[in-house]
Amino acid sequence: MKRFLGKMFLRGELEVLTGIHIGGSRDNMEIGGMDNPVVKTLNGVPYIPASSLKGKVRCLLERKYGVVEARSEGQPCGCGKCLHCQLFGSHSADSKTLTRCYIRDAFLNEEHYRQHFRFPFEEDFAYTEEKAENIIDRLKGVAQHPRFMERVPAGARFFLEVVVNFYEEDDIAALVGRLLEGLRLLEDDYLGGSGSRGYGKVAFRDLAVSVKNKQDYQEKNQEHPIVQGENLAALTIQTLGAELLSFFR
Ligand SMILES: [Zn+2]
Repeated sequence: MKRFLGKMFLRGELEVLTGIHIGGSRDNMEIGGMDNPVVKTLNGVPYIPASSLKGKVRCLLERKYGVVEARSEGQPCGCGKCLHCQLFGSHSADSKTLTRCYIRDAFLNEEHYRQHFRFPFEEDFAYTEEKAENIIDRLKGVAQHPRFMERVPAGARFFLEVVVNFYEEDDIAALVGRLLEGLRLLEDDYLGGSGSRGYGKVAFRDLAVSVKNKQDYQEKNQEHPIVQGENLAALTIQTLGAELLSFFR
């Protein structure tokens, strides 16, 4: 068993640049509610489930680098050895590995939301917008069958936390580099549904990276900041690498 060395924390905000739709359940919808609701907490506030974020980042990376070994076409990698399996887990019963990267559910920054969207009357307040999507009839050239999609509006921000665990013999620079690359690919892709209709463009803002090693847990449980207040473009393995590697040595 490889021994644990420490953790890296990447925190910041995920800003929605175009309306985003991550599908929720219709089970507890009132009659006459939206056709396609977004996922929400029990309090009715939209959030971004970690599984959506993690799944999309992994998918984009595997489209770029390919999959070493999968149970079937289109499935995530299950080789248990490549950087994607090390980061996000192996999709195989036989080739297990420690899953190093956890992404937390991203909850809405409600304070920012209320300041950014100024509703003149409290009864107008809403966490989502309703967007009609039509299909154009090819013969008549007119819109038909509108469906209503619920979206979180552009400008909303969600709190992001990504944790990466490191173990003996890990290639820390390669793991962190690959994770950052996945987030960059996501910024130029989309999160949630209806990306081809313009939904789901996101950007990572105000990012901070800090680390803790195994001694910190025995002592003051203190995090050591490496960078703060950066956009993703400024976070590279060149800017982080030297400090990260020396910290876990
Ligand atoms: Zn793999």
